[in-house]
Amino acid sequence: MAPEKIRLNANESPFSLSGASRERLAHALNDLAYNRYPDPEARDLIRAFSAHYRVAPAQVIAGNGSDELLQLLMLAYAKAGKPLALTSPDFSMYDRYARLAGVETLALPKDEAGRLDGPAYLAAAQAAGCGMLLFSNPCNPMGQGLSREGVLDLAAAFDGLVVVDEAYMDFWDQSVLDRVRPEGNLAVLRTASKAFGLAALRLGFGVLPTGLLEDMRALKSPYNVSSLSQVIGSQLYDQPDQLADRIASIVAGREKLQAALEDLVRGRPGYRVYPSVTNFIYFEVPDAPALDDYLQGQRIIIRRFGDRGLRVTCGLPEENAAFIQAVADFLERRP
Ligand code: PMP
Repeated sequence: MAPEKIRLNANESPFSLSGASRERLAHALNDLAYNRYPDPEARDLIRAFSAHYRVAPAQVIAGNGSDELLQLLMLAYAKAGKPLALTSPDFSMYDRYARLAGVETLALPKDEAGRLDGPAYLAAAQAAGCGMLLFSNPCNPMGQGLSREGVLDLAAAFDGLVVVDEAYMDFWDQSVLDRVRPEGNLAVLRTASKAFGLAALRLGFGVLPTGLLEDMRALKSPYNVSSLSQVIGSQLYDQPDQLADRIASIVAGREKLQAALEDLVRGRPGYRVYPSVTNFIYFEVPDAPALDDYLQGQRIIIRRFGDRGLRVTCGLPEENAAFIQAVADFLERRP
């Protein structure tokens, strides 16, 4: 039988639920009313999420992944009839959902270092009459982020909504969650799919000012988060599954991976490894399809962006080591 594929392409956690958490959940799953629809407001789940992040539950909406919330966000925003300011590169679904909702977008390119230039972004958005800014912070795929202060400056200066997708913020410490206000213009999205390691459950959250929250609630389907996800999610936000240890281990693995990748490509023209504060690393090579194909041949799956960009998710130590070894082998063949 062929060896299992090493999946380092979707920025998932390499850790599934621990045995202890599975045991703890068994009771709740046993008691579940399988014949009944879920709570449309996901109250227990939102209570547990809000307690974990110390936000006001009244400002929170839960979704079938933050993907669903992004779709609802676009539908809610479409009525403004103004363009949306994105950045490039960023999470590709922003543009897709905007188009589906009939929202026009513009995208400010990241700077030479792969970072978001806050003042330039603001100026471009204002010049184009945009009513909303949306960006991931830290950024997928670049792996870098805008400081908390930089985000708050944007929100203070922009006359419209500023939506910050903090899908990877559990790996960093620059969240603005505590600055969302009922009457403010700052909104934050979070997900259970990354550091919490619960991608299978499809759990996303929006911490939103009241107007946007009401618009998105009115648009959502009534039973958008399954009872299973609500029950499991509420237990795991109440009692996270080795969260701090797992984050520390992923971050340590990323630092090691980054150093190994930098060592491999040092002095090679056309290669560049970007710094990261997330659970993945973005890097550029002269011929990304060739390296991607080679890795696939080794049953290692990463994510390619165009002809030069690649993104690798930090996996288990042995998975990272297999990836580094494969890149080293590839480079040896192409001196
Ligand atoms: N935002 C960003 C920046 C992401 O990278 C992803 C997943 N790749 C999502 C949102 C969607 O996450 P989910 O739907 O699993 O919550």
